[in-house]
Amino acid sequence: MKSTVRVIQEKKQIALVAHDNCKKHLLEWVKTHEDELSRHELYATGTTGNIISKSTSLAIHPMISGPLGGDQQLGAMISEKRIDMMVFFWDPLTSVPHDPDVKALLRISAVWNIPVAFNRASADFMIKSPLISQASEIVIPDYDAYLAERL
Ligand code: PGA
Repeated sequence: MKSTVRVIQEKKQIALVAHDNCKKHLLEWVKTHEDELSRHELYATGTTGNIISKSTSLAIHPMISGPLGGDQQLGAMISEKRIDMMVFFWDPLTSVPHDPDVKALLRISAVWNIPVAFNRASADFMIKSPLISQASEIVIPDYDAYLAERL
């Protein structure tokens, strides 16, 4: 597939998601980086977002809770280029009822090449990168070319 470039702006649209056993770790991480995160637009699955809203002064755009469709909402936003990066603390030791949705969210993040952090170490690297406060480019599928090839 042909590719093109998408510019991610200085102010980023960031998705935050954590499975139940990981929510306290994500909350700690969010509190540690609250200043930096306050400079961006934040989205979160329902329960994760509710916990962050109640425990910090950050404004969160809430999705539905993950098992009820929130992962799919975020996946749709990624396809529409409305999410620039994602911090998703998924639980590698517990199965979840919405595993197909989790897989779909991970897959669509890979398709659209957004930066994704799956654990605290990668999230720290991501938020400490100079790119967090700069406009930058990512390579994405060229959808217009994809359609044109199918005429
Ligand atoms: P939740 O969803 O924040 O509503 O718990 C997280 C998830 O996708 O499992």
